Amino acid sequence: MGIRHGDTVKVMAGRSKGKTGKVLGVDPAKGRVTVERVNIIKKHTRANPSKNVRGGILDKEGPIHVSNVMLVCPGCGKHTRAGHATLPDGTKARVCRRCNQTFEN
Ligand SMILES: [Zn+2]
Repeated sequence: MGIRHGDTVKVMAGRSKGKTGKVLGVDPAKGRVTVERVNIIKKHTRANPSKNVRGGILDKEGPIHVSNVMLVCPGCGKHTRAGHATLPDGTKARVCRRCNQTFEN
């Protein structure tokens, strides 16, 4: 998948369409990503004192399918597709197809 932990993505489809947030987690096996403040679900948790977890209903981000999100470029601020480039030092990087800005990491 072209999306990694820490990337900023925009939701293009689904219930959270139009929202932008940071990727909190990726699940390559399921093709899903968890995005900050997107697809908030109510998670019912049981108290677990040994782990210092309080029981109750918790607001938590739910995973959404990668096909519903697009990368947001740190250079031009637009949603974009990432291309791949090899940098002068030989490392591979993802680049913005609009402005050629490389994505960090
Ligand atoms: Zn760009």
